[in-house]
Amino acid sequence: MSELIDQLRHHIRAVIVDPDAMPAYTRDQCILAPAGTPVAVVRAGSVAEVESTIRLAFEHRVPVVTRGAGTGLAGAANALDGGIVLDVSTMNQILDLDPVARTATVQPGVINAQLDTAARKHGLWYVPDPGSRDISSIGGNIATNAGGMCCAKYGVTADHVLTLTAVLGSGEVVHTGALTRKNVAGLDLTKLLIGSEGTLGVIIEATVKLLARPSNTATMVATFPSVRSAIMTVLALSGPENGIEAAAIELMDRTTVQAVNAMTKMGLDEECGAILLAQFDGRESAEQASTAAQVAQANGAEVFYTDDPDEGAALMDARRAALPALERLGTTLLDDVAVPVPRLPELLKRIDEISARHGVTIGTFGHAADGNLHPTIVFDANDEQARDRAQQAFDQIVSAAVELGGTISGEHGIGALKIRYLSQQVGSVERALMSRIKDAFDPRHILNPTRAY
Ligand SMILES: Cc1cc2nc3c(=O)[nH]c(=O)nc-3n(C[C@H](O)[C@H](O)[C@H](O)COP(=O)(O)OP(=O)(O)OC[C@H]3O[C@@H](n4cnc5c(N)ncnc54)[C@H](O)[C@@H]3O)c2cc1C
Repeated sequence: MSELIDQLRHHIRAVIVDPDAMPAYTRDQCILAPAGTPVAVVRAGSVAEVESTIRLAFEHRVPVVTRGAGTGLAGAANALDGGIVLDVSTMNQILDLDPVARTATVQPGVINAQLDTAARKHGLWYVPDPGSRDISSIGGNIATNAGGMCCAKYGVTADHVLTLTAVLGSGEVVHTGALTRKNVAGLDLTKLLIGSEGTLGVIIEATVKLLARPSNTATMVATFPSVRSAIMTVLALSGPENGIEAAAIELMDRTTVQAVNAMTKMGLDEECGAILLAQFDGRESAEQASTAAQVAQANGAEVFYTDDPDEGAALMDARRAALPALERLGTTLLDDVAVPVPRLPELLKRIDEISARHGVTIGTFGHAADGNLHPTIVFDANDEQARDRAQQAFDQIVSAAVELGGTISGEHGIGALKIRYLSQQVGSVERALMSRIKDAFDPRHILNPTRAY
């Protein structure tokens, strides 16, 4: 190993081998997924340093875990024993922003909100908006195909990426995609890299789409007597009969509302069954919010709506506070499952039953318009029995999603956390095919092995 370290030091300026300095780089935000002890943390400052790292890792057959901002929730950026952590967070320059083409070319470490702020100066919008938008990197968003709040109308990160430059496991550099609005040349390598959780290549540059910023937004807060009445409203708003196209419809159940109130003092109704926060944009946003309010009221809700963008943003912040607020109650095991929207009532019923069966607190919130929920189990990590009960509840929520025709991960990815569930959803022929794709991109399986597929 000392030969590898010497060679890394020869090519790269910032190589950390001091065990005391490593913990800051060895975990993401998923505290329950395993993390190993790396031999080195490389803080790459340039494309050349990334290439050198991968070529040396290839030569020495050493695993590499690429790290963006480390906000992942699946343990996908957790270090592997004896491997290299390749931190690309300081490669954080916006290389080009073209208001006419409506594109931005960025290094991987650019923070999502940093790009959106730059786009805003031109009246443009970088759409993908994970709850971690202020802290997560574009490279990490692409590698996880991050979702967020406005996916129902605008899609996920993959829908906003035009081209990628990546270093493969062999050290070769590939350029994928095209700057055009249409492109069907060859197999879609861009889409393969997106969501691959650092297992197929290290993303070193991306060109993404920017949209015109919507002229108007309107935000509705609807407070319901029960989760069921809130979800029936989501179903009604999703159907064609009201002519409504919400950019976001976010759910918070009572446990989550109480936790958010305790943290933010926002004065939400703590005795409610659930709250829906819905956002509408474009010229007809106020009319759409008004129609949505009528639908919610018909389902027993008390409703408030505003077309003031700042007030709307502040209200949506309540939802963004959901996870940190629940984390204040104890250790959290955050799930990320999605079902077809019409199956949401059944999923919520199953979550209730699981909570009662195992005697665990579950705060459920999430992107209801996408059928993507984050049931979050809160427990005392020092109590072994509570830990076991939390794990069993987690397992059963994942199984429930699959049984309802859904997915074991809507947006956070598989990482180290969910690899043992993958066969519940993906067949053996399909997994073997994924393995052959891995062989082609990463012949020695050095890129984040044992994760994601
Ligand atoms: C409070 C909070 C709210 C969140 N809300 C959402 C949400 O609404 N929607 C959502 O989808 N996620 C959400 N997340 C999860 C997380 O922020 C996303 O998964 C995010 O995309 C991870 O980005 P990152 O830069 O932190 O990546 P990391 O955690 O550093 O890495 C994540 C994965 O991407 C790989 N990777 C990182 N950079 C690169 C690169 N340049 N090349 C190749 N592989 C790379 C890593 O190896 C790892 O597999 C949330 C997290 C928190 C803490």
